[in-house]
Amino acid sequence: MNVPAPLACAPDPGPPAARPAGRERGQRQVFCGLTSIIWLHRKIQDAFFLVIGSRTCAHLIQSAAGVMIFAEPRFATAIIEDRDLAGLADAQQELDRVVTQLLERRPDIRLLFLVGSCPSEVIKLDLARAAARLSQHHFPRVRILSYSGSGIETTFTEGEDACLAALAACLPDAAAHERSLLVVGALADVVEDQLRRLFDELGIGPVNFLPSRDAGHLPAAGAGTMFLAAQPYTAEVSRVLRDRGARQLAAPFPLGAEGTTLWLQAAANAFGIDPLHFERVTAAARARATGALQAQRELLEGKRIFFFPDSHLEIPLARMLARELHMIPTEVGTPLLHRQHLAAELALLPPHTAVTEGQHVEQQLERCRASRPDITVCGLGLANPLEAAGLTTKWSIELVFTPIQGYEQAADLAALFSRPLDRRTRLRC
Ligand code: SF4
Repeated sequence: MNVPAPLACAPDPGPPAARPAGRERGQRQVFCGLTSIIWLHRKIQDAFFLVIGSRTCAHLIQSAAGVMIFAEPRFATAIIEDRDLAGLADAQQELDRVVTQLLERRPDIRLLFLVGSCPSEVIKLDLARAAARLSQHHFPRVRILSYSGSGIETTFTEGEDACLAALAACLPDAAAHERSLLVVGALADVVEDQLRRLFDELGIGPVNFLPSRDAGHLPAAGAGTMFLAAQPYTAEVSRVLRDRGARQLAAPFPLGAEGTTLWLQAAANAFGIDPLHFERVTAAARARATGALQAQRELLEGKRIFFFPDSHLEIPLARMLARELHMIPTEVGTPLLHRQHLAAELALLPPHTAVTEGQHVEQQLERCRASRPDITVCGLGLANPLEAAGLTTKWSIELVFTPIQGYEQAADLAALFSRPLDRRTRLRC
């Protein structure tokens, strides 16, 4: 079968409400937004994440990140529980004390996030006010921001969105005539470097990344800022940037050779780059990616894949796997369907692919078992029972931790799906 040729430009996504999607409400099986601290603390190198939470929150963070701690960690949990509501004033004082103690002990911290969680004692605390008060007190040495990573409000990748939205709200103002490109969503450093090189060669700039590796570097944003989302779970930070006058460039996400081309092309079009120059700059990397995907296609073509709603990467992944590897997505679940934010993706998804928003885990499990997909993408909690039922699974969180964006990672992304299938085949032999 032929690979669809890269499109000359992103298709017109049409009205965002056009594509039908089922909606489900029920029990959810997904990590909370605190989980995103695991990759954010590695990305923003002089930031610190102080979770205001319970022992459960501390346990989650430590067990999720435990294997990655080699030196002093850049996250911690201030445990606030077993307090009655009359003790709120004490809770504020306790928070001030913990923050002051932390900043004395860790003079390297330039950016401190107070991260809210679920316990009612924490919900009652006004963390935004506390962050403003503490920021004023510790100005200019450290900037203190707050956001919620509570499981009531966020799934694990939405924790990143909330964190970046807090950052975006305090970016310095850029003058309207200052044209720049902002790439939104945490990317592995290696991917960021590759994309920056491509933008340089294309003649697009200045280019900034949010979050940047250096917490002290906050790019300016204003009416001259154009931004490209690099991750699908950036709807809230995108809204904050639009409110500040920045213009969002419509594009699919940079997954696969086609997705990366269309994503780069959205920036090239906005910056008036000559199409021939675009072709010259991207041709070699695109050919490498397409060639590397060819080998993976032989393993994956015709394989049926079922996505449980988990990371918000499901729709872009299904698009890439269907169009570039000829897999068949039987159902694509997403925790929340941001139609406008995903319009370019929805336009490229095969027309008969069922999209489901929200979760009723029991019903989804039934549908998954009944459809017997070749591979199922799901959270850690569902993987074991599905494997026990003879289904091959892929942990969705692994797709967030692994560098998968851009041309050079296209085949690695495909291999994340072919490897478990290969393992299952070998086990059966
Ligand atoms: S779900 Fe709530 S209580 Fe549990 S770890 Fe996450 S924030 Fe803490």
